[in-house]
Amino acid sequence: MSSKDVPPLQELAMQTLLRDENLIISSLGKLPPVFFLELFKQACERGLGNVLKKMVASWPFPRLPLGAMKKRNFFQIQEYILEEIDRVLIQKVRPREYKLEVLDLRSVGQSCSDVWSGPIDNWLPQTSSEAKEGGKQPLKVAVNLYLRNDPANKLFFLSQWAKKRKGLLEVYCYELQIWLPSLSDCKYFLECMNLHHIEVLGLYCLRKPAFLLNLNSYLGHMTNLRKLSLSNLHEESLVSPEERKHIISGFASQLLNMECLQKLHLDNTSFFQGHLHQLLGSLKTPLDDLAVTNCQVSDSDWYHLSKLPCVSQLKQLSLENIRLVYLSPEPLRVLLVKSASTLVSLSLEDCHMKARYLYAILPALSNCLQLTTFNFYGNQVSKNALKKLLRHTASLKHLSMELYPIPKDCYEDNGTLHMEYTGILCDELMDTLKAIRKPGRVYFGADRCHECNIRYIYNKTMMCKCRRIAD
Ligand SMILES: [Zn+2]
Repeated sequence: MSSKDVPPLQELAMQTLLRDENLIISSLGKLPPVFFLELFKQACERGLGNVLKKMVASWPFPRLPLGAMKKRNFFQIQEYILEEIDRVLIQKVRPREYKLEVLDLRSVGQSCSDVWSGPIDNWLPQTSSEAKEGGKQPLKVAVNLYLRNDPANKLFFLSQWAKKRKGLLEVYCYELQIWLPSLSDCKYFLECMNLHHIEVLGLYCLRKPAFLLNLNSYLGHMTNLRKLSLSNLHEESLVSPEERKHIISGFASQLLNMECLQKLHLDNTSFFQGHLHQLLGSLKTPLDDLAVTNCQVSDSDWYHLSKLPCVSQLKQLSLENIRLVYLSPEPLRVLLVKSASTLVSLSLEDCHMKARYLYAILPALSNCLQLTTFNFYGNQVSKNALKKLLRHTASLKHLSMELYPIPKDCYEDNGTLHMEYTGILCDELMDTLKAIRKPGRVYFGADRCHECNIRYIYNKTMMCKCRRIAD
């Protein structure tokens, strides 16, 4: 047996302990923290209910990242752990070793080893040292909530638990997503948590935009919101212009209070058409990330967009699938001039831009010196126009991801791609770029397939089946 085959001492000790549950339980107070944590993971893996309960009752760390510990038998383990935490919560005197302050049920953004307080909890209220010494501060339960019309919502127990143990535990939600909800379901959850600490809010597939009005009283408390996403917001039944105005101005008035808001994503939200500037105009602080995608934008929305105070310091701008071809290039030029010193990511994918439009924004684009990502797929420009674009990127030294459309010269009259010509022109464009500056990762993509919506990328992906058959 070579020295390589000998398990480390810690592993040997672990194996010995795991053979005898009583031995684990009697050693709990004497284990070093790293060993304790490893043993806890092993006990979760093996579903050792008694051991888990004893370990939780003497939890020596300020955090328990339960959401990151998803295993096959997670729900059983969760039950053991929550039962034990609840038992400790209601004890008059808690075990001496027990140090738990934050129970984190979020499954993303943390790992099993995050058992110490740190930046991961910066969004939570700090526990004062007096409260720590008293040992009776309420347990903070951190969650992300995804509300769907789902009566068996797994977090349903949480709202019941919070009500039952009021004063002993407090629920804090970091990210709240609302999908197709009924207001009564939402109320049930929203009323059991501290809305003030929510940093990310997503509103998706709201069938009735009037729901936004019902949310207003809750939105008013979300003063720490940093990111707001609205997606698939359409009118299911006809809303009168006055009613629409009323709903939008009510919603916009809540945005006024969101002084921390930095990221706003509006995707496929026809409800705001013609009122976009009203919505964005209510933001008084600059955004660093704005995405207006898959929407129809009216002339007046487009005209006002570049004049709003919230777009003066953008780091990320996405206008994917906004048909810019029908809108003036001037507002986009102004937007680029305004964000020239801050913009790092720009997506103009599927904007159906033509050469004249591109030429109007090129001088402004060439001054966005911080740009690292530029997505220009899905625009109808020729090889010559693309060469002109590449020459205007000479000073963009930080570009590391560059996505350009395959020139329109490569398409046959019936819209199919001439593969040989594509190879020749893309290689030629690449040579042009190399002569100008050091390229980042550069790809040339075709228009999306009308059947499957997939985009063929030269030298990277296969042509989709529908297009191959058509060839
Ligand atoms: Zn296809």
